[in-house]
Amino acid sequence: MFHASCHCGAVRLEIARKPRTLTECNCSMCGRLGARWAYYTRKAVRVVCSNGAMQAYLYRTKTYEYYHCKVCGCVTHYARVNVKRSDKVAVNARMMKPEDVASISIRRLDVRKRKRGRAERT
Ligand SMILES: [Zn+2]
Repeated sequence: MFHASCHCGAVRLEIARKPRTLTECNCSMCGRLGARWAYYTRKAVRVVCSNGAMQAYLYRTKTYEYYHCKVCGCVTHYARVNVKRSDKVAVNARMMKPEDVASISIRRLDVRKRKRGRAERT
């Protein structure tokens, strides 16, 4: 069992295994968070927290819910609102012990470049 936790410990995640790769994304949300995401199926991640300790944030298209701890503010994970569309949950590896994830390779997802490309074509 692998663990992740917000700063104050009110929101803890129990994860089936160590991540194999981490993803850094530069979209308007992830870029601000400075998050590194590790993707799992929902059943591989168990969220442990008291009722009301977590809050979800949705924006624009309301496709994804970003969860953060109400006490310390750390964003712990996000998931698609519609479970039928995706069985995945993205855990913020910044909530894992740095020494546990230091050697894992990081994939850089440049969505801004993709958007620039799209704008140039139209
Ligand atoms: Zn917290």
